[in-house]
Amino acid sequence: MHMLILQADATQEAESFFDTPWWSFTTLMTKAVLVALWLALVYWTYKDAKRRIDDPLMIGIAVATSFIFPYLGTLFYTILRPPEYLEDVEERELEIQARRREIGGVSRCPSCSALVREDYLVCPNCRRRLKVSCGSCGRPLDPAWQVCPYCARDVKAASAAQEEEIFP
Ligand SMILES: [Zn+2]
Ligand SMILES: [Zn+2]
Repeated sequence: MHMLILQADATQEAESFFDTPWWSFTTLMTKAVLVALWLALVYWTYKDAKRRIDDPLMIGIAVATSFIFPYLGTLFYTILRPPEYLEDVEERELEIQARRREIGGVSRCPSCSALVREDYLVCPNCRRRLKVSCGSCGRPLDPAWQVCPYCARDVKAASAAQEEEIFP
């Protein structure tokens, strides 16, 4: 009996400790911090996903996961997210393209799609005319160009004059 009373006393003491305003203030603050951290992580997921993912649906799923599973959802997102920012991917692709252009100078013949160098005047495979040579410096010119980029000769005017000579 005596023991029981002691036990009851201890429980009461513990209860009164958890009843104190200090304790309720601490739990309230802890809860507030945890909720703020959770919402901040959801927001961070949104910002990070927008920089890494192109598809709005996938961004939505990432944010929803982070929201529905506090902390853990964000952790999963961090593990599964694409490793690179979209702008880095784009930059790298542009770099690769530029390097290919520098090394290559190779394209395909529009009629037989054989590999032809940028400075070929005709396709060696099917004889299709690819470029015309500049009348003044002899370099290969794209038929669409108005002026020779190497010697600044006016290609359009020159070819018009040539045609006039042939068909007066
Ligand atoms: Zn060809
Ligand atoms: Zn020229």
